[in-house]
Amino acid sequence: MLVYHLPGTFDTRDAHLDLLWSAGATGLEERAGVIRAYFDDQTDLPAPVADGEWRQEADQDWLAEFKATLRPVTAGRVTIVPPWLTHEVPAGQVPLIIEPGMAFGTGHHATTRMAVEALSQLDLSGLGVLDVGTGSGVLAIAATLLGAEHALGVDIDPQTIPIAQENAEINGVPAGRAVFVEGTLGSDLPEHTAPDATYDVLVANLYAELHDLLAGEYAAHLRPGGPLILTGILTGKLPLVQDALAREAFADVTVRHNGEWALVTARA
Ligand code: SAM
Repeated sequence: MLVYHLPGTFDTRDAHLDLLWSAGATGLEERAGVIRAYFDDQTDLPAPVADGEWRQEADQDWLAEFKATLRPVTAGRVTIVPPWLTHEVPAGQVPLIIEPGMAFGTGHHATTRMAVEALSQLDLSGLGVLDVGTGSGVLAIAATLLGAEHALGVDIDPQTIPIAQENAEINGVPAGRAVFVEGTLGSDLPEHTAPDATYDVLVANLYAELHDLLAGEYAAHLRPGGPLILTGILTGKLPLVQDALAREAFADVTVRHNGEWALVTARA
């Protein structure tokens, strides 16, 4: 990898960056007071940027480095791991394999961890679970691995659906037990979330304002007494969610904290 080291920062060299691009740089990066300009071939550079130094550096595999930093994540009875760390799941824990990729939900965010932990504290045997904002599918898949009869994951981002389906396959969840659909609760209901479809458990890792907006839908899609698990809530915004749950007559409201994040449970 050929890197031209130019003393300075993007701020101090702002006027010179175009010269590097025009000379054929394929990428620019600033590290510790040095601009690193990546080139395929060494070239003559104009005077304003000629005070740097060409260096041949070992290629870095960023993806491999990132992957090496990932560790198993314990969330209650479940341990979330990337595919290459399944051997590190402690005996007795339920392994949940998530391929780190484009969708949110590798288990490394406190909200995902708290939601999986809350699911693992329920007896899900034979139950139907609705996961709103499924991302990588992590919560719907966790639910089926914990014994749920079926889980539906919905997400407004169409890119998440094939990712969630692939993660379900990696975990050996039969196709019919975890279903992923593009959409949301509310006006543009997909077929599976028709107004009369109710679930035994509803989990949603979104954000406080959206929980406030969707609270009525949560009530409509949960069977009476069914557990509700909400996270993605910044502690400062808890009152918004608590008020919404009171408005929709949810009972037994509890709050758990992890740093700046909160998870709320309640019953329909
Ligand atoms: N469930 C995963 C987890 O717990 O790690 C992912 C949660 S991620 C914070 C939120 C997901 O919700 C994103 O994939 C986003 O596309 C989706 N989302 C945002 N607004 C939504 C809405 N109104 N209805 C359904 N999904 C939504």
